[in-house]
Amino acid sequence: MNVDLSVVIPVYNEEQGLAALFARLYPALDALGIPYEVLFVNDGSRDRSAALLREQFQKRPEVTRVILFNGNFGQHMAIMAGFEQVRGRRIVTLDADLQNPPEEIGRLVVKMDEGYDYVGSIRRMRRDTAFRRYASSAMNILRERITRIRMTDQGCMLRAYSREIVDAINECREVSTYIPALAYTFAQRPVEIEVDHEERAAGVSKYSLYQLIRLNFDLVTAFSLVPLQLFSLAGMIISLLSILFVGYLAVRRLLIGPEAEGVFTLFGIVFFLLGIALFGIGLLGEYVGRVSQQVRQRPRYLIQAVLEQREAEAALLRPAPATPERDGSAPG
Ligand code: UDP
Ligand code: MG
Repeated sequence: MNVDLSVVIPVYNEEQGLAALFARLYPALDALGIPYEVLFVNDGSRDRSAALLREQFQKRPEVTRVILFNGNFGQHMAIMAGFEQVRGRRIVTLDADLQNPPEEIGRLVVKMDEGYDYVGSIRRMRRDTAFRRYASSAMNILRERITRIRMTDQGCMLRAYSREIVDAINECREVSTYIPALAYTFAQRPVEIEVDHEERAAGVSKYSLYQLIRLNFDLVTAFSLVPLQLFSLAGMIISLLSILFVGYLAVRRLLIGPEAEGVFTLFGIVFFLLGIALFGIGLLGEYVGRVSQQVRQRPRYLIQAVLEQREAEAALLRPAPATPERDGSAPG
């Protein structure tokens, strides 16, 4: 069977919201009238999410597949794992928390039919805390300046990608990445549409302030060397100026003799330079940390089990009574 649409949904501790998600997602997809599949990736949830996904798989085995991770590898790794398994011609990503209504998927598909290979989305009336909104608009501005990625609303995960883009993403071995931005770099004809945004239906946000900061560092360092280059440039200019300054002090020492005054000015300058040096070391660390992660080439995630109908089997006996399970941990 040719799958027209694959929907990839990362799930991490979403037991409270999953029932509502199933209740809205499946009717919305059925209504499209195209062959589809839903691929849930359980990112090592510690609640009943895995059990609920298994139940849902048993209810709709012909259109549902579930990847169970061995631990928590993060939202973007979960989506990556989904991408490596999808069979669809077009792929849509969606959060499990119903902040983006599944009913909007149809509009993304229509856009793809018009010939676009990347459909981004902009949240109409974003329903998040004021802090999240301000912080992310600041990050948007920074990203626009230092990368070539043009997105109005980088945080919205409801997006559609063509098979070609997803294949290209599957070629990437990177560990810390940001899928919408990575996909954008491969897009030939991107477009954006406005979508609705709702408050989280149930459960809590999985991102703490710290994790949001980490995610934004990923976004910047994965797509731009500008911070590093700016710093090394600034470092060079400043060290040049300091050499001039030391020369000037030496000349003064020779012409005027020793001066005790002005010691604090000197302290000020030293601390300023120290501050810049420390910041630079930290910035270097951000890149070096990623380089070392990358050279280690560890598996990016571990799959415990995949729940799916084997393709041949699905074709033979549809609707299938048995729901075989493919077990074993295959490193990704
Ligand atoms: N998520 C995940 N692994 C994580 C964190 C989040 O798979 O480590 C999933 C989560 O279940 C949800 C989506 O990623 O489907 C977005 O998370 P959340 O809604 O908490 O983020 P926010 O909307 O607050 O940015
Ligand atoms: Mg959310």
